[in-house]
Amino acid sequence: MQVFKFGGASVKDAEGVINLGHIVATHRANKLLIVVSAMGKTTNLLEQLTLSYFEQRENTFDLLEQAKQYHGNIIRALFDDIHHPVFNEVSNRFVEIEWILEEAPADPYDYLYDQIVSVGELVSTTIVSHYLNHISLPNTWVDARDYIATDNTHREGKVDWQITEARVQRDLQPLLDNQLVVTQGFIGSTSENFTTTLGREGSDYSAAIFAACLNAESVTIWKDVPGVLNADPKWFDKTELIAELSYLDAIELTYYGATVIHPKTIKPLQNKNIPLYVKSFVDIEDSGTQIRDTKGALPIPSFIFKVNQVLISILPKDFSFIVEDNLSDIFRRFHQHKIKVNMMHNSAVSFSVSVDDTGDNVNMLLHDLKTRYEVQHQNGLELITIRHYNQQTVDRVLVDKAIIMELKDSYTCQLLVRKLR
Ligand code: ASP
Ligand code: MG
Repeated sequence: MQVFKFGGASVKDAEGVINLGHIVATHRANKLLIVVSAMGKTTNLLEQLTLSYFEQRENTFDLLEQAKQYHGNIIRALFDDIHHPVFNEVSNRFVEIEWILEEAPADPYDYLYDQIVSVGELVSTTIVSHYLNHISLPNTWVDARDYIATDNTHREGKVDWQITEARVQRDLQPLLDNQLVVTQGFIGSTSENFTTTLGREGSDYSAAIFAACLNAESVTIWKDVPGVLNADPKWFDKTELIAELSYLDAIELTYYGATVIHPKTIKPLQNKNIPLYVKSFVDIEDSGTQIRDTKGALPIPSFIFKVNQVLISILPKDFSFIVEDNLSDIFRRFHQHKIKVNMMHNSAVSFSVSVDDTGDNVNMLLHDLKTRYEVQHQNGLELITIRHYNQQTVDRVLVDKAIIMELKDSYTCQLLVRKLR
């Protein structure tokens, strides 16, 4: 039993869906669970729609229309018969959004977000499932919400592994013995059957959850890049493909911000010793990257860039030291404002952290911290993390940069820098 995950970019248009069909056909000899994200940039669009609705702006229905048009074009390109049931089913999915929009928003934003944004995955899988049937790849469409049980933390649902595993083994496993199964990434449901989502880009994590519960042989994530590269091509011109990566290295890379895989994906696979393949959906014969339990993988220096960082330095007002008491108070405030620390450094008299400059909530945090501490901040910084660094790689990234803060351990070097003109 294998799990294949297809992200938004892989199914952004009709050609993408056809290509997915080709990949599945090539692997049809295996038992296969196919996990699919929303098509293209649908999640962003539905996110906008939710906000628009929540703020009762006028363009809400235009945004819905855009989503319908976009998917309409894809299905018309895939199915010649305009009476094919897929047309009706997709339009019924959008009716679920219309029902919500008919009333003024009475529920919290995060809750509404999950009910609306999840439709992206329900629509994409409806299309993919019908298309596979259409090309003689019979399959069963299943609703991931019947399996992935979460708490009611909307937009960041925490998985209840016990319930999820029991349901998957009882009901999903037998289905897979007979047929291909198509399901959604990213979504789950609460014990009261409200839809939840697992956090942006969470479909990778869904694939890992299913794989772990099914004791799958492997997971393959099909991407628009050849595999895990040692840097994001957006920032680096000469990137290298990492053919083999240990679970630990993969966890570290995603922790420091490599966006190729969702950070929560690796751990459940590592626990069950299930290898993860990251492959190109364009060059499907290429081997891509293998992430597994290995000690032999060559340490290839990898670079992770985060721009738009703000350095916050916190000093006690009364010349005392930064001790445990202050630290726990400081962390509590970060947590309260939902701000994730990317790098931190503690000295006797100050505690410094770098965080993403997300605007409003950082300002609120600064304001809050100032009630108890002396606070300084600098923005417009870049954070560069090098895994398996050496002097040469450090020198390479420091061209025209001034170091503001630097942290090194045996494997990882973090440099917070300012660009020099
Ligand atoms: N569709 C969701 C998102 O764009 C989940 C995913 O793609 O993994 O965040
Ligand atoms: Mg995606």
